[in-house]
Amino acid sequence: MSSKAIFGNGSEIQVTYACGHQGSIKSQRDSINEMRTRAASRTLCEVCIIAHRAKRDCMISNSVQRTKEAAAATKLTGTRKQIEWAERIREKWLFIVKREIPTHLLSNLEKARIGAVSPEAIEQAITTVLAARLAAIDGVVAHCKAAWWIDFRSYLEAMVNQPTDAAIKSECSVLLNR
Ligand SMILES: [Zn+2]
Repeated sequence: MSSKAIFGNGSEIQVTYACGHQGSIKSQRDSINEMRTRAASRTLCEVCIIAHRAKRDCMISNSVQRTKEAAAATKLTGTRKQIEWAERIREKWLFIVKREIPTHLLSNLEKARIGAVSPEAIEQAITTVLAARLAAIDGVVAHCKAAWWIDFRSYLEAMVNQPTDAAIKSECSVLLNR
């Protein structure tokens, strides 16, 4: 396929992103330029997208450090046998727990992108959901009874996913009803 027919003379057109920042894209056919100008007005510029992601990455690495310290500082109580078992459960869980919002949960929030919701508001909503998820992880790590870890060892994932899902539903209703 020849690209010469599609690409123009290599000039650039200015677009304005939803965040208000300007950018330039390679000029193409008018219909494509119009489409891409419209698309830009509904998305954030790359710098803003990277800033939102960097903020969330930072929250996640803080969470890793915080729970590591919390687990080290929280001495489990119970019989010696219970404590040994619970410590293994806690250690394993801290290793496997997913701090990022699971894609299947996040997809509900992503649907808001189709509507007239501002992309900035969606990014903020994702950050709010992540904060709720990380707080739920902190809540689990705060448990100090060995028996609790043993009894609920199969529900630890749900204890983080449920508050995540609740936060997503709450953010969605705010976004879609504003
Ligand atoms: Zn921007």
